[in-house]
Amino acid sequence: MSAAPVYIDLDIAIIGGGVAGLWLANRLKRQGFTLALFEQNALGSDQTMASQGMIHGGMKYTLSGMLTGASETIADMPKHWRACLCGEGDVDLRNTRLLSDHFYLWSGNSVSSKLSSFLASTALNGRVDPVPDDRRPPVLRHADFGGNLYKLEDIVLDVHSLVTNLAHNIEANCFHIDWAHARWQTESNNLSLCIEREGQTYEVRASRFIFCAGKGNRDLLASLGLKRPAMQLRPLQQVMVKHKYPYSFYGHCLGAETTPRLTISSHKLNSTDYIWYLGGSIAEKGASLSADELIIKAQLELAELLPWVDMSGAEWKTLPVQRAEPLQPNFLRPENAFVGEATGLNNLLVAWPTKLTLAPNLANQVLDLLKANKINPASDPTITHSLQGVLPHPPIAATPWEIAFPPAEDAVIAVSHKLQDELSEAYDEDEEEGKS
Ligand SMILES: Cc1cc2nc3c(=O)[nH]c(=O)nc-3n(C[C@H](O)[C@H](O)[C@H](O)COP(=O)(O)OP(=O)(O)OC[C@H]3O[C@@H](n4cnc5c(N)ncnc54)[C@H](O)[C@@H]3O)c2cc1C
Repeated sequence: MSAAPVYIDLDIAIIGGGVAGLWLANRLKRQGFTLALFEQNALGSDQTMASQGMIHGGMKYTLSGMLTGASETIADMPKHWRACLCGEGDVDLRNTRLLSDHFYLWSGNSVSSKLSSFLASTALNGRVDPVPDDRRPPVLRHADFGGNLYKLEDIVLDVHSLVTNLAHNIEANCFHIDWAHARWQTESNNLSLCIEREGQTYEVRASRFIFCAGKGNRDLLASLGLKRPAMQLRPLQQVMVKHKYPYSFYGHCLGAETTPRLTISSHKLNSTDYIWYLGGSIAEKGASLSADELIIKAQLELAELLPWVDMSGAEWKTLPVQRAEPLQPNFLRPENAFVGEATGLNNLLVAWPTKLTLAPNLANQVLDLLKANKINPASDPTITHSLQGVLPHPPIAATPWEIAFPPAEDAVIAVSHKLQDELSEAYDEDEEEGKS
């Protein structure tokens, strides 16, 4: 006969440790909720670590020449995140590295006059400023640069340090889950999570389970026989350029369309190599191309837009990745974070931030819903101790460029292992010959 389950009664159980789950867990913990976050891979694994780290006020969504609801909703986000970076916000991000405190918008001559006058309009004062020629960043400080240049108040974060910071704040509440040894259980429309470990069942019960698993939300819902809230996926293929060009750059190049033609962010790979991470239209349109086709397109694009930037000797790789969003009519981009109740179950919420920037907005929506449902901190905070030692803590994911361009030492180690193998084979052969 199997032993009786050990019950672990939580206020909140979060599934998924990307920025959505981690930010939410930080907010809930500060509010006194007893919680656990369950991650199946490494923290930040999927979209979060693949993101460009831009915390933007929505300006890039105004490129059609008009302020939209989206730009108004997220307009305050850079300010919100800045306060957190200083330790004065609702989440402590004092250990997160700021890569840049601004973002550039630059246009070729092809940009419409409607957009140019929009950017110059007084409606955007304080959110976008024209940059005089003598203040241009090194990458655009060339006699052949002929476009317009604006500076946005957006900031760029080092996402690896962000995930590490968020995870560190709630270290004792993060657990690795292996679904081969875990299953859902429903009773009277209430969900619980049963985890088997060394012959013992641990049944996690919570006032609310919150799915923050990005594209994994759909499979989680399907495993419960649910289809809603429904999800849409936006396929992308980002381009990574490893090079030794010494200047970093964070900017969108405007083309004729409503999404930036090219978005560049810069990341340090090691003491000598840098990464330019290319997104925007090129990544959206390039999603269906082969890696080789897209790399050629990206090389032509850089040569056309920044012909004076020397990328000779650069190494190129691509990263296919999908953005997960709540289903929208006509596949539109959602304007806000999404939090919804799953139909058929009393204690399940499903959430997508839709943008890294909007993680605070997602947490606010969850807190509002909890308040509306009179769910307050109630469980014994020491209950998570029962999971310590039962489930391991998940590691932090590597960045896409660390994975794409592993350190050269690995190659050296691989060669030395190969040599060692060959040597020992040679010794074995010698020994055999000696015997005979
Ligand atoms: C290429 C790219 C660039 C982007 N750039 C920006 C940007 O510059 N600025 C911006 O604001 N937004 C950006 N975004 C959007 C932003 O990255 C995402 O909206 C955000 O990271 C989503 O976070 P998430 O936590 O919901 O999902 P994810 O980051 O995808 O995290 C989901 C987590 O859940 C885990 N998981 C999945 N299934 C399960 C399961 N069954 N059990 C347990 N765990 C599970 C995964 O392993 C993962 O760790 C970008 C997105 C992409 C793809």
